[in-house]
Amino acid sequence: MFRLLLIACFCVVQAIGMQPLLLSLDEDPRITQKFLQQIIPECARLDGSSFRTYGDRFDRPPCIAVLHYTETRNRGGAMEAFRDNGTSAHYVVDQDGDIIQIVPLHHRAFHAGVSRFGDHTSLNGCSIGVEIVNRGLAEHEEPGAVQLLGDGRWWFPFPPEQTRAVGLLVQALQARFRIPGWNVVGHMEIALGRKSDPGPLLDYRTLFVDYHGGFFPSEDPIVNRMEFLERLVEDDYHAILSLIGYRPPEGQWSLAIKAYQMHFSRGNISGELVEETKESLIHFVLDIHSYRDPYTGTRHTSFIAEFHTLVWTAPERFDPFFQHIPSLQAGE
Ligand SMILES: [Zn+2]
Repeated sequence: MFRLLLIACFCVVQAIGMQPLLLSLDEDPRITQKFLQQIIPECARLDGSSFRTYGDRFDRPPCIAVLHYTETRNRGGAMEAFRDNGTSAHYVVDQDGDIIQIVPLHHRAFHAGVSRFGDHTSLNGCSIGVEIVNRGLAEHEEPGAVQLLGDGRWWFPFPPEQTRAVGLLVQALQARFRIPGWNVVGHMEIALGRKSDPGPLLDYRTLFVDYHGGFFPSEDPIVNRMEFLERLVEDDYHAILSLIGYRPPEGQWSLAIKAYQMHFSRGNISGELVEETKESLIHFVLDIHSYRDPYTGTRHTSFIAEFHTLVWTAPERFDPFFQHIPSLQAGE
């Protein structure tokens, strides 16, 4: 009870414009999923924060969560950058796992810019923005930075306590707004070729496996793997990327492939359709067919319907999917 009062005080402090809400996840192990779910709607009712860089109220509840990195060394730098650039996000997740809310949840934040995912455009109007404090990327080697296959740049890792906080926050946001896992995306996926955040080092698999945050396909070997790989042509993979929601500029599929790789298949992030990426995309299709999202209670019905249409344009190439997806056999 005392802790709830304490948090309530923080909320009041935020409301009168002194400090943003501060939740320290490591302060108290009882700060669980349930706790965050209770806290988030409480604070969402607050207004009048000192941080004024945000837009109108949402027209309808946001249905997408967009993850970012701040490209700063610390939280203070991030806040300065927000003020200087006129940008914002609903939450900032610090390196030590602290979660700070800076924009009321019923207002739009300025985080996505020119953006597109599936049929959604200008995503500020339909998404919650989460900024993760991280230096981003460097063009040259620097202490602590990591390079991945197929990419000449250097990336800075996310500490485990920060990944944990992102996982808890994403889980709570999905529960609060009924955001399906397939709508938890990185800025790099909705602004193809323009943005690279939060990059390939955020552990999206851990977010899914440990915190039910987002969606992540299996990495197990695929039965009859070669059958898929021998039949499908490049256009088929592009079509699958499009069903996921990627909308690259005309013909620039390598941008979509690279974005997919950074999120789902970071063994090679070259933007080339390498075998590992093809397998991951096949797994995505197979797994999304059997995945019922725990927050919405639904399957990804638009993906499934459109995939079935796609299959019937070239059933001979998509034949291996018929063995794995029962509803295709039924010709539904
Ligand atoms: Zn961003």
